[in-house]
Amino acid sequence: MPRPNPRLVMKFGGTSVRDLARIRNAAEKVRAEVERGYDVAVVVSAMAGETNKLVGWVREASAGPEGGAAFYDAREYDAVVAAGEQVTSGLMALTLQQIGVPARSWQGWQAPLRTNAAHGAARIEAIDTDALDRKFEEGLHAVIAGFQGIGPDGRIATLGRGGSDTSAVAFAAALGAERCDIYTDVDGVYTTDPRMEPRARRLDRISYEEMLELASLGAKVLQTRSVELAMRYRVRLRVLSSFEEGPGTLVCDEDEIGEDSMESRVVSGVAFQRDEAKVTLLGVEDRPGVAAAIFGPLAEAGVNVDMIVQNISEDGRTDMTFSTSEDDLPKALKALETARETIGMREIVSDRDVAKVSVVGIGMRSHAGVAQKMFAALAREGVNIKVITTSEIKVSVLIDRKYLELAVRALHDAFGLHAA
Ligand code: ASP
Ligand code: MG
Repeated sequence: MPRPNPRLVMKFGGTSVRDLARIRNAAEKVRAEVERGYDVAVVVSAMAGETNKLVGWVREASAGPEGGAAFYDAREYDAVVAAGEQVTSGLMALTLQQIGVPARSWQGWQAPLRTNAAHGAARIEAIDTDALDRKFEEGLHAVIAGFQGIGPDGRIATLGRGGSDTSAVAFAAALGAERCDIYTDVDGVYTTDPRMEPRARRLDRISYEEMLELASLGAKVLQTRSVELAMRYRVRLRVLSSFEEGPGTLVCDEDEIGEDSMESRVVSGVAFQRDEAKVTLLGVEDRPGVAAAIFGPLAEAGVNVDMIVQNISEDGRTDMTFSTSEDDLPKALKALETARETIGMREIVSDRDVAKVSVVGIGMRSHAGVAQKMFAALAREGVNIKVITTSEIKVSVLIDRKYLELAVRALHDAFGLHAA
């Protein structure tokens, strides 16, 4: 029996398939990989702007002629928004055929990619690749509509905004692909946002864990869920540009990063979140159950709490500080007001002009002194630190928002991340 060809998943985001010229450009990249001997599964997004347009129509149709806030049927939302990917999958298959690459399109339900019942934000349960496998054997490459699958009710289900990345990784895992290449409009993952620090550098390689921690930078590059999935199934991911030639960034297991680069790189990147808010509860009773009394209602209100700090107590009372996004702040304050009696506190103080800066790197596990170096660099710039948290591979601080840019640049410099 002849050995099957190695497999490759190539995912093209919305800007990479914005019009027919770009679809043709993407198809040429597919042809090049086919000529290298791969069986290729192309996963496509909707054309740029298309999903937003479809979501807008769903809202409008559900609101009726009077307008106003609409409740809509999530199954019909899925039926409408999945259409964007259906169009590009067919157009990509046609374009591939036209340049001599045998290919056919697959909708989520055809593969099938099975999801749970959470229409609009469905999770992937399983992918059956038998039909795809057979077509590969016949020499037919696959073009798969990203973002969509079929729910237990037999109806189309979508995976949440940005979900095509997750589709691509899931297919790469199920098909046993050598790699999952994510073609986008940036040429890789950077040490920090180049708009903030022009000397930011593209990373050749980065570990899954670091990529997850840098999500605040990479959020626009990759859907976080796709990185989690890649980590779980050890799918090697490559982020690269559709428009410029270049090696991109490989997101991989830390074993693949190599001793040398790990040694020379304790910190891989500086991440930040601009729109944070800080809340302090003063004079909270220091007794068992009080943290639960505070964070229970916040969780119920859907507030995403990030950093948490509790002071040492004095006379049976303590202060509790936490951070959240500025968007969640009104919800948080309302929930705390409502629970005020059960919590038992003197006062609530909030600060909405804060930002979070983090240094991230797997090298931190084996190197001491990263936090100290960070604090010293911030001190040299006169930046005051309000809250500190650490994890195994990350140190984060909350600072005044107006110093964010200064802080990011100082840290990028202090950890030797500047481009040569
Ligand atoms: N088209 C979908 C969206 O815009 C899915 C994706 O592109 O990843 O969210
Ligand atoms: Mg995307």
